[in-house]
Amino acid sequence: MSNYRPETICVQGGYTPGNGEPRQIPIVQSTTFKYATSEDMGKLFDLEANGYFYSRLQNPTCDYVAAKICALEGGTAAMLTSSGQAANFFALFNIASCGDHIVASSSIYGGTFNLISVTMAKMGVETTFVAPDCSEEELNAAFRPNTKCVFGETIANPALTVLDIEKFAKAAHDHGVPLIVDNTFATPVGCRPFEWGADIVTHSTTKYMDGHGAAVGGAIVDSGKFDWMAHADKFPGLCTPDDSYHGITYAEKFGKEGAFITKCTAQLMRDFGSTPSPQSAFYLNLGLESLHVRMARHCENGQAVAEFLASHPKVEIVHYCGLPGDPYHEVAKKYLPNGSCGVVSFELKGGRPAAEVFMKHLKLAAIETHVADARTCCLNPATSTHRQMTEEQFKAAGVPAGLVRMSCGLESKEDLIEDIAQALEEI
Ligand SMILES: *Cc1c(COP(=O)(O)O)cnc(C)c1O
Repeated sequence: MSNYRPETICVQGGYTPGNGEPRQIPIVQSTTFKYATSEDMGKLFDLEANGYFYSRLQNPTCDYVAAKICALEGGTAAMLTSSGQAANFFALFNIASCGDHIVASSSIYGGTFNLISVTMAKMGVETTFVAPDCSEEELNAAFRPNTKCVFGETIANPALTVLDIEKFAKAAHDHGVPLIVDNTFATPVGCRPFEWGADIVTHSTTKYMDGHGAAVGGAIVDSGKFDWMAHADKFPGLCTPDDSYHGITYAEKFGKEGAFITKCTAQLMRDFGSTPSPQSAFYLNLGLESLHVRMARHCENGQAVAEFLASHPKVEIVHYCGLPGDPYHEVAKKYLPNGSCGVVSFELKGGRPAAEVFMKHLKLAAIETHVADARTCCLNPATSTHRQMTEEQFKAAGVPAGLVRMSCGLESKEDLIEDIAQALEEI
Protein backbone atom coordinates (compact mmCIF):
# COMPACT_ATOMS: atom_id res chain seq x y z
CA MET A 1 0.00 0.00 0.00
CA SER A 2 2.77 2.47 0.83
CA ASN A 3 3.78 2.56 -2.87
CA TYR A 4 0.50 4.28 -3.71
CA ARG A 5 -0.11 8.02 -3.68
CA PRO A 6 -1.55 9.61 -0.50
CA GLU A 7 -5.03 9.91 -2.06
CA THR A 8 -5.20 6.15 -2.59
CA ILE A 9 -3.76 5.37 0.85
CA CYS A 10 -6.41 7.65 2.46
CA VAL A 11 -9.14 5.53 0.89
CA GLN A 12 -7.70 2.01 0.91
CA GLY A 13 -4.57 1.98 3.10
CA GLY A 14 -4.09 -0.12 6.21
CA TYR A 15 -6.62 -2.86 5.51
CA THR A 16 -6.80 -5.31 2.62
CA PRO A 17 -9.68 -7.75 3.03
CA GLY A 18 -9.32 -11.33 1.87
CA ASN A 19 -11.88 -13.27 -0.13
CA GLY A 20 -15.35 -12.94 1.39
CA GLU A 21 -14.15 -10.64 4.20
CA PRO A 22 -15.80 -7.31 5.12
CA ARG A 23 -15.07 -4.44 2.70
CA GLN A 24 -15.11 -1.90 5.55
CA ILE A 25 -12.71 -2.41 8.48
CA PRO A 26 -14.30 -4.67 11.10
CA ILE A 27 -14.87 -3.18 14.55
CA VAL A 28 -13.32 -5.82 16.78
CA GLN A 29 -15.27 -4.96 19.91
CA SER A 30 -13.47 -7.41 22.19
CA THR A 31 -11.27 -6.78 25.20
CA THR A 32 -9.50 -10.10 24.89
CA PHE A 33 -8.49 -12.85 22.47
CA LYS A 34 -8.62 -16.64 22.73
CA TYR A 35 -5.68 -19.07 22.60
CA ALA A 36 -5.48 -22.86 22.68
CA THR A 37 -2.49 -23.24 24.98
CA SER A 38 -0.70 -21.27 27.69
CA GLU A 39 2.42 -21.70 25.62
CA ASP A 40 0.87 -19.75 22.70
CA MET A 41 -0.09 -17.01 25.12
CA GLY A 42 3.33 -17.00 26.74
CA LYS A 43 5.00 -16.29 23.40
CA LEU A 44 2.88 -13.17 22.99
CA PHE A 45 3.81 -11.97 26.47
CA ASP A 46 7.49 -12.51 25.67
CA LEU A 47 7.10 -10.55 22.40
CA GLU A 48 8.28 -13.75 20.68
CA ALA A 49 5.15 -14.00 18.52
CA ASN A 50 2.80 -11.43 16.92
CA GLY A 51 -0.80 -11.45 17.98
CA TYR A 52 -3.46 -9.90 20.16
CA PHE A 53 -4.14 -10.71 23.76
CA TYR A 54 -5.65 -7.66 25.43
CA SER A 55 -7.10 -4.51 23.82
CA ARG A 56 -5.36 -2.18 26.28
CA LEU A 57 -2.17 -2.94 24.35
CA GLN A 58 -3.36 -3.65 20.82
CA ASN A 59 -6.59 -4.20 18.95
CA PRO A 60 -6.99 -5.17 15.26
CA THR A 61 -9.32 -2.24 14.38
CA CYS A 62 -6.92 0.27 15.90
CA ASP A 63 -4.00 -1.40 14.12
CA TYR A 64 -5.67 -1.16 10.68
CA VAL A 65 -6.06 2.57 11.18
CA ALA A 66 -2.53 2.98 12.60
CA ALA A 67 -1.23 1.16 9.50
CA LYS A 68 -3.07 3.62 7.24
CA ILE A 69 -1.59 6.64 9.07
CA CYS A 70 1.83 4.94 8.97
CA ALA A 71 1.60 4.55 5.19
CA LEU A 72 0.35 8.13 4.77
CA GLU A 73 3.38 9.50 6.65
CA GLY A 74 5.78 7.08 4.95
CA GLY A 75 6.82 5.49 8.26
CA THR A 76 7.75 1.96 9.32
CA ALA A 77 5.57 1.55 12.44
CA ALA A 78 2.69 3.40 14.08
CA MET A 79 0.24 3.23 16.96
CA LEU A 80 -2.99 4.99 17.92
CA THR A 81 -3.54 6.64 21.30
CA SER A 82 -6.71 7.83 22.99
CA SER A 83 -5.86 11.52 22.40
CA GLY A 84 -3.28 13.83 20.88
CA GLN A 85 -2.09 14.64 24.40
CA ALA A 86 -1.36 10.96 25.00
CA ALA A 87 0.46 10.73 21.65
CA ASN A 88 2.81 13.61 22.49
CA PHE A 89 3.36 12.43 26.05
CA PHE A 90 4.16 8.87 24.93
CA ALA A 91 6.43 10.00 22.08
CA LEU A 92 8.45 12.20 24.46
CA PHE A 93 8.43 9.97 27.54
CA ASN A 94 9.44 6.93 25.47
CA ILE A 95 12.95 8.46 25.26
CA ALA A 96 13.05 11.27 27.88
CA SER A 97 12.52 10.46 31.55
CA CYS A 98 13.65 11.75 34.96
CA GLY A 99 16.95 13.61 34.66
CA ASP A 100 16.62 14.17 30.91
CA HIS A 101 16.13 17.32 28.85
CA ILE A 102 14.08 18.31 25.78
CA VAL A 103 14.54 21.17 23.30
CA ALA A 104 11.15 22.41 22.08
CA SER A 105 9.81 25.14 19.86
CA SER A 106 8.08 27.79 21.98
CA SER A 107 5.34 28.02 19.38
CA ILE A 108 3.28 24.92 20.19
CA TYR A 109 -0.22 23.92 21.29
CA GLY A 110 -1.09 25.14 24.81
CA GLY A 111 -1.87 21.62 26.01
CA THR A 112 1.54 20.37 24.91
CA PHE A 113 3.20 23.42 26.48
CA ASN A 114 1.54 22.55 29.83
CA LEU A 115 2.42 18.87 29.43
CA ILE A 116 6.10 19.66 28.92
CA SER A 117 6.60 22.72 31.11
CA VAL A 118 4.47 21.69 34.10
CA THR A 119 3.65 17.98 34.22
CA MET A 120 6.79 16.52 32.68
CA ALA A 121 8.86 19.02 34.70
CA LYS A 122 7.32 17.45 37.84
CA MET A 123 8.49 14.09 36.49
CA GLY A 124 12.04 15.43 36.30
CA VAL A 125 12.20 16.22 32.57
CA GLU A 126 13.45 19.74 31.86
CA THR A 127 12.74 21.66 28.67
CA THR A 128 14.42 24.58 26.92
CA PHE A 129 12.10 26.49 24.60
CA VAL A 130 13.41 28.16 21.46
CA ALA A 131 11.60 30.44 19.00
CA PRO A 132 10.62 28.57 15.82
CA ASP A 133 12.55 31.14 13.77
CA CYS A 134 15.64 31.22 16.01
CA SER A 135 19.10 31.21 14.44
CA GLU A 136 21.12 28.00 14.14
CA GLU A 137 23.43 29.30 16.90
CA GLU A 138 20.51 29.89 19.27
CA LEU A 139 19.13 26.46 18.47
CA ASN A 140 22.47 24.69 19.03
CA ALA A 141 22.99 26.59 22.29
CA ALA A 142 19.79 25.05 23.71
CA PHE A 143 21.25 21.51 23.78
CA ARG A 144 22.73 19.89 26.90
CA PRO A 145 24.55 16.59 27.38
CA ASN A 146 21.27 15.07 28.69
CA THR A 147 19.09 16.33 25.80
CA LYS A 148 17.07 13.39 24.39
CA CYS A 149 14.96 14.93 21.61
CA VAL A 150 13.77 18.05 19.80
CA PHE A 151 10.07 18.86 19.47
CA GLY A 152 8.05 21.21 17.24
CA GLU A 153 4.79 21.55 15.28
CA THR A 154 4.69 21.73 11.47
CA ILE A 155 2.01 24.45 11.71
CA ALA A 156 1.65 25.63 15.30
CA ASN A 157 -1.76 25.78 16.98
CA PRO A 158 -2.82 28.60 17.47
CA ALA A 159 0.16 30.82 16.49
CA LEU A 160 0.21 29.41 12.90
CA THR A 161 4.00 29.67 12.69
CA VAL A 162 5.61 27.17 10.27
CA LEU A 163 8.53 25.04 11.47
CA ASP A 164 11.73 24.94 9.41
CA ILE A 165 11.86 21.15 9.72
CA GLU A 166 15.24 20.74 8.00
CA LYS A 167 16.89 23.26 10.35
CA PHE A 168 15.49 21.57 13.44
CA ALA A 169 16.31 18.07 12.13
CA LYS A 170 19.91 19.04 11.40
CA ALA A 171 20.43 20.47 14.89
CA ALA A 172 18.85 17.37 16.46
CA HIS A 173 20.99 14.98 14.42
CA ASP A 174 24.18 17.00 15.04
CA HIS A 175 23.52 16.34 18.75
CA GLY A 176 22.68 12.65 18.27
CA VAL A 177 18.96 12.91 19.06
CA PRO A 178 15.73 12.56 17.03
CA LEU A 179 13.33 15.29 15.92
CA ILE A 180 9.69 14.73 16.90
CA VAL A 181 7.17 16.74 14.84
CA ASP A 182 3.50 17.19 15.69
CA ASN A 183 1.96 17.20 12.20
CA THR A 184 -1.67 17.72 13.31
CA PHE A 185 -2.55 20.90 11.37
CA ALA A 186 -0.66 20.10 8.16
CA THR A 187 -1.66 16.39 8.00
CA PRO A 188 0.41 14.08 5.76
CA VAL A 189 -1.66 15.37 2.82
CA GLY A 190 -0.03 18.79 3.24
CA CYS A 191 3.43 17.83 4.54
CA ARG A 192 5.32 14.63 5.27
CA PRO A 193 7.92 15.64 7.88
CA PHE A 194 9.96 12.42 7.37
CA GLU A 195 10.87 13.67 3.88
CA TRP A 196 12.55 16.68 5.55
CA GLY A 197 14.47 14.75 8.22
CA ALA A 198 12.00 14.35 11.10
CA ASP A 199 12.30 10.99 12.90
CA ILE A 200 9.00 10.65 14.76
CA VAL A 201 5.64 12.21 13.86
CA THR A 202 2.69 12.69 16.22
CA HIS A 203 -0.94 13.64 15.59
CA SER A 204 -4.01 14.79 17.36
CA THR A 205 -6.31 12.82 15.06
CA THR A 206 -9.17 14.72 16.76
CA LYS A 207 -8.55 17.54 14.27
CA TYR A 208 -8.45 17.19 10.45
CA MET A 209 -7.88 13.42 10.35
CA ASP A 210 -11.22 12.77 12.03
CA GLY A 211 -12.43 16.07 10.61
CA HIS A 212 -16.04 15.82 11.79
CA GLY A 213 -15.69 16.50 15.51
CA ALA A 214 -16.68 12.91 16.27
CA ALA A 215 -13.82 11.21 18.17
CA VAL A 216 -10.85 12.36 20.25
CA GLY A 217 -7.68 10.47 19.33
CA GLY A 218 -3.95 10.53 18.61
CA ALA A 219 -1.25 8.72 16.67
CA ILE A 220 2.52 8.20 16.75
CA VAL A 221 4.50 7.22 13.65
CA ASP A 222 8.17 6.18 13.46
CA SER A 223 10.22 6.89 10.31
CA GLY A 224 12.44 3.91 11.17
CA LYS A 225 15.49 6.04 10.30
CA PHE A 226 16.92 7.01 13.67
CA ASP A 227 19.82 4.75 14.64
CA TRP A 228 19.29 4.26 18.39
CA MET A 229 22.21 1.86 18.73
CA ALA A 230 24.61 4.46 17.27
CA HIS A 231 23.70 6.64 20.29
CA ALA A 232 23.15 3.80 22.75
CA ASP A 233 24.48 5.78 25.73
CA LYS A 234 21.70 8.35 25.29
CA PHE A 235 18.84 5.85 24.93
CA PRO A 236 19.25 3.12 27.54
CA GLY A 237 15.49 2.40 27.43
CA LEU A 238 15.82 1.23 23.82
CA CYS A 239 19.39 -0.07 23.84
CA THR A 240 19.70 -2.02 27.11
CA PRO A 241 17.60 -4.98 28.35
CA ASP A 242 14.08 -4.19 29.62
CA ASP A 243 13.64 -6.05 32.92
CA SER A 244 9.87 -5.60 32.69
CA TYR A 245 9.97 -7.60 29.43
CA HIS A 246 12.21 -10.53 30.24
CA GLY A 247 15.37 -8.70 29.28
CA ILE A 248 14.44 -7.74 25.70
CA THR A 249 16.61 -5.04 24.11
CA TYR A 250 14.16 -3.25 21.78
CA ALA A 251 16.70 -1.74 19.37
CA GLU A 252 18.37 -5.14 18.90
CA LYS A 253 15.25 -7.24 18.62
CA PHE A 254 13.06 -4.91 16.55
CA GLY A 255 15.70 -2.82 14.76
CA LYS A 256 15.49 0.82 13.79
CA GLU A 257 12.16 0.18 12.06
CA GLY A 258 10.24 -1.24 15.01
CA ALA A 259 12.01 -0.48 18.31
CA PHE A 260 10.36 2.86 19.14
CA ILE A 261 6.72 1.82 18.60
CA THR A 262 7.21 -1.65 20.14
CA LYS A 263 8.65 -0.14 23.33
CA CYS A 264 5.96 2.56 23.39
CA THR A 265 3.21 -0.09 23.11
CA ALA A 266 4.77 -2.74 25.33
CA GLN A 267 5.77 -0.36 28.16
CA LEU A 268 3.80 2.89 28.01
CA MET A 269 0.49 1.59 26.69
CA ARG A 270 0.73 -1.34 29.10
CA ASP A 271 1.37 0.96 32.07
CA PHE A 272 -0.66 4.10 31.23
CA GLY A 273 -3.45 2.52 29.17
CA SER A 274 -4.28 5.53 26.97
CA THR A 275 -5.75 3.27 24.33
CA PRO A 276 -8.50 4.29 21.90
CA SER A 277 -11.69 2.27 21.59
CA PRO A 278 -12.10 0.25 18.37
CA GLN A 279 -15.28 2.26 17.74
CA SER A 280 -13.33 5.54 17.85
CA ALA A 281 -10.70 4.09 15.51
CA PHE A 282 -13.51 3.21 13.09
CA TYR A 283 -14.81 6.82 13.11
CA LEU A 284 -11.24 8.04 12.56
CA ASN A 285 -10.91 5.75 9.55
CA LEU A 286 -14.10 7.18 8.02
CA GLY A 287 -12.55 10.63 8.34
CA LEU A 288 -9.26 9.48 6.81
CA GLU A 289 -11.06 8.13 3.74
CA SER A 290 -11.83 11.71 2.64
CA LEU A 291 -8.87 13.55 4.23
CA HIS A 292 -7.24 14.41 0.88
CA VAL A 293 -10.51 15.78 -0.55
CA ARG A 294 -11.33 17.77 2.58
CA MET A 295 -7.87 19.29 3.10
CA ALA A 296 -7.90 20.88 -0.36
CA ARG A 297 -11.23 22.53 0.48
CA HIS A 298 -10.14 23.62 3.98
CA CYS A 299 -7.07 25.27 2.40
CA GLU A 300 -9.14 26.93 -0.34
CA ASN A 301 -11.61 28.34 2.22
CA GLY A 302 -8.81 29.40 4.61
CA GLN A 303 -6.99 31.22 1.81
CA ALA A 304 -10.16 33.00 0.61
CA VAL A 305 -11.15 34.08 4.13
CA ALA A 306 -7.57 35.23 4.90
CA GLU A 307 -7.47 37.32 1.70
CA PHE A 308 -10.86 38.88 2.44
CA LEU A 309 -9.88 39.75 6.01
CA ALA A 310 -6.52 41.18 4.91
CA SER A 311 -8.33 43.61 2.60
CA HIS A 312 -10.89 44.74 5.22
CA PRO A 313 -10.45 48.18 6.87
CA LYS A 314 -11.61 46.98 10.32
CA VAL A 315 -8.96 44.25 10.45
CA GLU A 316 -5.57 45.12 11.96
CA ILE A 317 -3.55 42.05 10.89
CA VAL A 318 -4.13 38.53 9.54
CA HIS A 319 -1.89 35.55 10.39
CA TYR A 320 -1.99 32.98 7.58
CA CYS A 321 1.10 31.60 5.85
CA GLY A 322 -0.73 31.52 2.51
CA LEU A 323 -0.65 35.36 2.42
CA PRO A 324 2.40 36.80 0.61
CA GLY A 325 3.13 39.30 3.44
CA ASP A 326 3.09 36.66 6.20
CA PRO A 327 6.46 36.10 7.96
CA TYR A 328 6.10 32.34 7.34
CA HIS A 329 5.11 32.60 3.66
CA GLU A 330 8.52 31.57 2.31
CA VAL A 331 8.97 28.62 4.72
CA ALA A 332 5.42 27.53 3.89
CA LYS A 333 6.17 27.55 0.14
CA LYS A 334 8.87 24.96 0.81
CA TYR A 335 7.10 22.68 3.30
CA LEU A 336 3.43 23.25 2.38
CA PRO A 337 3.35 23.74 -1.40
CA ASN A 338 -0.29 22.61 -1.63
CA GLY A 339 -1.59 24.99 1.07
CA SER A 340 -1.45 24.98 4.86
CA CYS A 341 -4.84 24.43 6.54
CA GLY A 342 -8.17 26.09 7.22
CA VAL A 343 -7.18 27.91 10.40
CA VAL A 344 -6.74 31.69 10.12
CA SER A 345 -6.09 34.06 13.01
CA PHE A 346 -6.55 37.82 12.94
CA GLU A 347 -6.75 40.91 15.09
CA LEU A 348 -9.48 43.51 14.85
CA LYS A 349 -8.69 47.22 15.13
CA GLY A 350 -11.10 47.64 18.05
CA GLY A 351 -9.34 44.98 20.18
CA ARG A 352 -11.26 42.75 22.57
CA PRO A 353 -14.63 44.67 22.55
CA ALA A 354 -14.64 44.55 18.74
CA ALA A 355 -13.87 40.82 18.79
CA GLU A 356 -16.79 40.21 21.15
CA VAL A 357 -19.25 42.12 18.95
CA PHE A 358 -17.91 40.46 15.81
CA MET A 359 -18.18 36.93 17.14
CA LYS A 360 -21.64 37.49 18.62
CA HIS A 361 -22.98 38.38 15.17
CA LEU A 362 -21.48 35.45 13.24
CA LYS A 363 -24.18 33.09 12.06
CA LEU A 364 -22.22 30.23 10.48
CA ALA A 365 -19.09 30.19 12.63
CA ALA A 366 -19.98 28.79 16.03
CA ILE A 367 -17.94 29.72 19.10
CA GLU A 368 -16.09 26.53 20.12
CA THR A 369 -12.77 25.51 21.62
CA HIS A 370 -12.47 23.05 18.74
CA VAL A 371 -10.64 23.56 15.42
CA ALA A 372 -10.11 21.70 12.17
CA ASP A 373 -13.66 20.50 11.74
CA ALA A 374 -16.07 20.33 8.78
CA ARG A 375 -18.09 23.13 10.43
CA THR A 376 -16.55 26.60 10.66
CA CYS A 377 -15.87 27.67 14.21
CA CYS A 378 -14.05 30.47 15.98
CA LEU A 379 -12.60 31.46 19.31
CA ASN A 380 -11.40 34.63 21.00
CA PRO A 381 -8.66 33.34 23.32
CA ALA A 382 -8.89 36.53 25.45
CA THR A 383 -12.48 35.82 26.48
CA SER A 384 -12.20 32.02 26.66
CA THR A 385 -9.08 29.87 26.96
CA HIS A 386 -6.90 32.78 28.19
CA ARG A 387 -9.66 34.55 30.13
CA GLN A 388 -7.77 34.83 33.45
CA MET A 389 -4.91 36.82 31.95
CA THR A 390 -4.33 40.57 32.29
CA GLU A 391 -3.68 42.81 29.26
CA GLU A 392 0.07 42.63 30.01
CA GLN A 393 0.01 38.85 30.21
CA PHE A 394 -1.78 38.64 26.85
CA LYS A 395 1.05 40.60 25.28
CA ALA A 396 3.73 38.40 26.88
CA ALA A 397 1.97 35.23 25.71
CA GLY A 398 1.70 36.54 22.16
CA VAL A 399 -2.09 36.39 22.35
CA PRO A 400 -3.42 39.92 21.78
CA ALA A 401 -6.82 40.59 23.37
CA GLY A 402 -8.46 41.17 19.99
CA LEU A 403 -7.13 37.97 18.41
CA VAL A 404 -9.74 35.75 16.79
CA ARG A 405 -8.88 32.22 15.68
CA MET A 406 -11.17 31.05 12.91
CA SER A 407 -11.18 27.47 11.68
CA CYS A 408 -12.66 27.49 8.18
CA GLY A 409 -14.79 24.43 7.53
CA LEU A 410 -16.09 22.90 4.34
CA GLU A 411 -19.00 25.29 3.68
CA SER A 412 -19.18 27.59 0.63
CA LYS A 413 -16.41 30.18 0.89
CA GLU A 414 -18.83 32.83 -0.44
CA ASP A 415 -21.23 32.12 2.44
CA LEU A 416 -18.38 32.24 4.97
CA ILE A 417 -17.13 35.57 3.63
CA GLU A 418 -20.65 37.07 3.56
CA ASP A 419 -21.15 35.96 7.17
CA ILE A 420 -17.84 37.52 8.22
CA ALA A 421 -18.62 40.71 6.29
CA GLN A 422 -22.00 41.21 7.98
CA ALA A 423 -20.50 40.56 11.43
CA LEU A 424 -17.74 43.09 10.77
CA GLU A 425 -20.43 45.66 9.84
CA GLU A 426 -21.84 45.33 13.39
CA ILE A 427 -18.65 46.63 15.01
C1 LIG B 1 -5.43 19.53 19.76
C2 LIG B 1 -3.98 19.36 19.64
C3 LIG B 1 -3.27 18.49 20.49
C4 LIG B 1 -3.96 17.72 21.59
O1 LIG B 1 -4.78 16.77 21.03
P1 LIG B 1 -6.10 16.15 21.78
O2 LIG B 1 -6.58 15.18 20.77
O3 LIG B 1 -7.03 17.31 22.04
O4 LIG B 1 -5.62 15.53 23.03
C5 LIG B 1 -1.92 18.34 20.28
N1 LIG B 1 -1.27 19.02 19.31
C6 LIG B 1 -1.92 19.88 18.49
C7 LIG B 1 -1.16 20.61 17.43
C8 LIG B 1 -3.29 20.08 18.61
O5 LIG B 1 -3.92 20.93 17.80
